[in-house]
Amino acid sequence: MGTELLAVEDARARTLALASPLPMEWARLDEALGRALAADLQAQRTLPPWDNSAMDGYAVRAADLTGPLPIRLTVGEIIHAGQTPRVELRPGTCARIMTGAPLPVGADAVVMQERTRQVPETEGPAAVEILEAVSSRNFVRPRGEDARQGELLLGKGTPLGIPELGLITGQGLFSVPVPRRPRVAILSTGDELCRGDEPSEGRIIDTNAPTLALAVARAGGVPTLLGIARDTLEEVSARLADARDFDLVLTSAGVSVGDKDFVKAALTQQGVAMDFWRVAIKPGKPLAVGRRGHTLYMGLPGNPTSSLVTFELFVRPVIRRLLGLTDVEPPRVAGRLEGELRKPTGLAHYVRTQATWREGELWVRPLASQTSGALRSASSASHLLHFPRQATSLAHGAHVELLPVSWTV
Ligand code: AMP
Ligand code: MG
Repeated sequence: MGTELLAVEDARARTLALASPLPMEWARLDEALGRALAADLQAQRTLPPWDNSAMDGYAVRAADLTGPLPIRLTVGEIIHAGQTPRVELRPGTCARIMTGAPLPVGADAVVMQERTRQVPETEGPAAVEILEAVSSRNFVRPRGEDARQGELLLGKGTPLGIPELGLITGQGLFSVPVPRRPRVAILSTGDELCRGDEPSEGRIIDTNAPTLALAVARAGGVPTLLGIARDTLEEVSARLADARDFDLVLTSAGVSVGDKDFVKAALTQQGVAMDFWRVAIKPGKPLAVGRRGHTLYMGLPGNPTSSLVTFELFVRPVIRRLLGLTDVEPPRVAGRLEGELRKPTGLAHYVRTQATWREGELWVRPLASQTSGALRSASSASHLLHFPRQATSLAHGAHVELLPVSWTV
């Protein structure tokens, strides 16, 4: 196991190298959001099934509109969405048509209602004046624009967002092949901890496990709380031994160099091949990562905010990879710093900031408290500002890299 301080990017790359998409299952569409397709999906039906109108207006033959304007056309049938046209359009005629209704045979364009003028009934049979010439295919949504039966609808690896699931719904499908959700165990360690429903004198309530469980669920994993292990090698080791059948095991605290920090030793005792345990980052320097069989182990720091920051930078990318997604890096946006920041070299800082949009740019203000021991210092943060490892100062107005956090509302 390496003891050198790893750069954040290297630590993430090494962690991700230990993770690959989980085996496939068929998931209901409302359960598939945020996972990637595990196999190619063929279109079951052509959509739209017919050329149809993109506007309320008149279905016309574009060739009829070549003379001087306005051009008067006789109105035949009225076609609403959901109706099938019955009459073929002959030269000099048109059909009243609503958005989404199929085009009648003979029509090749639609003139929007706003570019027409109703001819008074007193002037004879129903007619309309067309005020502008249109070319063929004008305001026509072509058959098969969304999908053509038998063709590839969405390829393996496509992230399933809301439009993709809408597309799949439109194909009459109710389930899709996706990697199953990662089963994520969370073990708290610490002599000072108690459960929230059993508070006791001289102890603090374990907040890391429940907050990590929320973050895991939001990232698409299925969390299981393993309770609290006391700070002995035997107990931490025994709890880890019990934690079978998980894809990812997260431990909280006890991972640094304190006298009672037994997580690394316990992981090693349990046969976990440790990869690294120190990252050049603040908050969150102690972070232990290793693997045993198909299970990935991540020992997160105990300080509550460090735990959340390391989740953002390392755990969420892993969960995304397990869900089959390829774009797993934390999202980044550009912004400007309000105020100044200083630090020594050596560690990359991830400064909790609050962003506001001003004069066409995102400006971030570092929160007054940057302590990793207090959750309050994370509570109003919208972005983590990346203060690079070797940099020592950032001036007011500096262009900075920002990571939107996933823990806000
Ligand atoms: P450690 O990493 O064990 O040195 O813990 C660092 C700090 O995090 C200590 O102040 C602990 O009391 C605190 N801490 C550890 N685990 C938890 C937890 N599950 N919930 C809240 N605070 C914790
Ligand atoms: Mg401790």
